[in-house]
Amino acid sequence: MKITVLTLFPEMFENFLNTSIVGRSLQRGLAEVEFVQIRDFAPGNYKHVDDTPFGGGSGMVMKCQPVLDALNSVKTENSYTLLTSPAGKPYNQQKARELCKKDHLIILCGHYEGMDARINDHVDELVSIGDYVLTGGELASMVIIDSVVRLLKGAIRDTSTDEESHENGLLEYPQYTHPADYNGEKVPEVLLSGNHAKIREWRVMQSLKLTKELRPDLYEKHEFTDEEKKILKKYDL
Ligand code: SAM
Repeated sequence: MKITVLTLFPEMFENFLNTSIVGRSLQRGLAEVEFVQIRDFAPGNYKHVDDTPFGGGSGMVMKCQPVLDALNSVKTENSYTLLTSPAGKPYNQQKARELCKKDHLIILCGHYEGMDARINDHVDELVSIGDYVLTGGELASMVIIDSVVRLLKGAIRDTSTDEESHENGLLEYPQYTHPADYNGEKVPEVLLSGNHAKIREWRVMQSLKLTKELRPDLYEKHEFTDEEKKILKKYDL
């Protein structure tokens, strides 16, 4: 998979792309990330990429011409283009699963007051990583790249992502590691039992319980499997 990031600040990505799972995956060639400096497409000596908003108001707006020329320099019929924006569709694990199947992902990073609204018609989707405003789209792009790259085959063991939070619409069950007793705080007995069926049942039960408590919004729209329905009944959740 190839990922192209259109940005004014490619230097922000340096450590991120060399670290941990993303770093290893890129080194192994599972994905390739390239950058296009939007300013390279701005004309004149001053290379202005932004201008004042029509109708007045504070801040500057990124202009169509440099952004769209930069986009058109890399876009092909296999590309899927995302524009990062607080007004975009909320990003989630399901979207990451969809995006990890794309051949070529292009991510556009806005800055200042954002982009000229006409640019929206030249992308496949506007994506928001949450209901808050960032200074630029670079952190949002890193969130998208991280969540997509770790899903690529070979990035991590398949089973590591299968049971993670949000994969099946629920939060993950609590995890524990050694020691089994930390200053009197004990790991649940069932996890030490070696009984895989019981451990699975406990984990599903915990996952349902946690989601109900912490994310009632997810719990309400979850479609329960037969196994989950049985466990709900058994534990009276
Ligand atoms: N004036 C814009 C508004 O009120 O919607 C905010 C612009 S923001 C300061 C600059 C850029 O940061 C945006 O163009 C976008 O690329 C990025 N950005 C900010 N918040 C974001 C979010 N929650 N999700 C994705 N991108 C975001």
